[in-house]
Amino acid sequence: MSTTEVVWFRRDLRLSDMPTLSSAADAGRVVALFVLDDRFAATGPRHTFLLRCLRALDDDLGGRLLVVRGDPATVVPKIAREFDAGAVHISADHAPYGSRRDRAVETALGDVPLVRTGSPYAVSPGRVVKNDGTPYRVFTPFRRAWLDHGWRSPATTDVSTVSWLDPDGIDLRVDIPDDDTDITLPPAGEQAALRRWREFRDDELERYDTDRDRPDLDGTSRLSAALKFGCLHPRTLLHDLRGRSDPGAVAFRSELCWRDFYADVLHHRPDTAYRNYNPRFESIRYDTGPDAERAFAAWQQGRTGFPIVDAGMRQLLAEGWMHNRLRMIVASFLTKDLHLPWWWGAKHFMSHLVDGDLASNQHGWQWTAGCGTDAAPYFRVFNPTSQGEKFDPKGDYVRRWVPELGGIAGKSVHRLPDGPPPGYPEPMVDHAHERQVALARYGEISARG
Ligand code: FAD
Repeated sequence: MSTTEVVWFRRDLRLSDMPTLSSAADAGRVVALFVLDDRFAATGPRHTFLLRCLRALDDDLGGRLLVVRGDPATVVPKIAREFDAGAVHISADHAPYGSRRDRAVETALGDVPLVRTGSPYAVSPGRVVKNDGTPYRVFTPFRRAWLDHGWRSPATTDVSTVSWLDPDGIDLRVDIPDDDTDITLPPAGEQAALRRWREFRDDELERYDTDRDRPDLDGTSRLSAALKFGCLHPRTLLHDLRGRSDPGAVAFRSELCWRDFYADVLHHRPDTAYRNYNPRFESIRYDTGPDAERAFAAWQQGRTGFPIVDAGMRQLLAEGWMHNRLRMIVASFLTKDLHLPWWWGAKHFMSHLVDGDLASNQHGWQWTAGCGTDAAPYFRVFNPTSQGEKFDPKGDYVRRWVPELGGIAGKSVHRLPDGPPPGYPEPMVDHAHERQVALARYGEISARG
């Protein structure tokens, strides 16, 4: 006899290549559920993007997405009881909060099984390990093992054959809240993500390995928010790239592997969401106090007097996104020029990034600060001026985001040889001096062994 199965959508807001849906649809009629979890802030660009993705999913489901609000450990069992469900189906969450939440829901469900099928990663965290069974700590050997391991082909459930249940009349049902934001977000939802992927794959991927480091060229996919919310699965992208060994495809595959790598690292070391991966850094000296807080505010607002840093920070505020090269430059500036704790910067990023993801963000920060996996060697302190000249060689990116510098032609916008124009600050630090301070502080923890 056919049962009713609940598909609880979380970081998989799509209908194609969706193994969770396949496993539910094989067993019976399907209720599509999303829980607005009280624990997460109901503001900010990421939340807005989420709401738009939910609206897109609801449209694709013909209005049959059951959205409820509350603590998942309370509301998911209520919904399961309401429909007398055979099982609740999810894709596994390996992040610290998600796995705790799922264990709590599993307990609260009692006899109704919580069925985990797949995960938001090409290769689920914990799957790729060294020969001795321990996790990888360095990216390049992880990538080799990840490529050897490979991934499944996309799931092929025909959505039109799924027997969806209409959730009309369910008391707990709420409307998807309205959203408002004054920042420009990427188009939300599965169809928009697939369109963007096809456009990128067909027109831009062949130049990706050369253009991806150039913030002035917009040479990356801009799919990070869609991947964060599972509007498309990385396996779909990797499947499209099968057999391709051209530099663009190789580089893109490698970036998707970074995403899996950091999820794997966080899975094995959940403490590194907030603590240094390298314990030696527990004793490094950071600046704190009112001057440090003033410096932090200037960095947040994009008023450091270093044009490339300010352009990146202003892009973040305006778009909820920042180019990867800029993320590294501004993170290096915060930790090595201003000597502020990496987690201050990571928190600011998480408040503003539409793609904000605990694993990629905290470990991107730790990599740059020198305390993470594969950490940039401590003596590599990015020079913000030469980074600007190298990666924004005509100055177009800076002029786009820092209007005060709009009248300064070419790459001199990075050095401002005639001093800052009216309204734009002097450089807040002397980079050469701060580099020495950073090296001395790293030297102290190295000496302590
Ligand atoms: P593309 O270059 O088109 O890459 C394709 C996809 O690969 C990305 O969408 C992303 O899913 C993945 N990817 C690419 N580079 C990385 C990387 N270094 N680490 C992990 N995954 C990667 N990425 C996030 O998704 N969320 C974050 O919160 C985040 N915070 C970061 C913080 C810092 C300090 C740094 C240095 C990097 C961070 N990244 C983060 C990684 C990277 O900057 C973004 O994934 C990338 O800029 C997104 O743009 P895109 O989709 O155009 O990338």
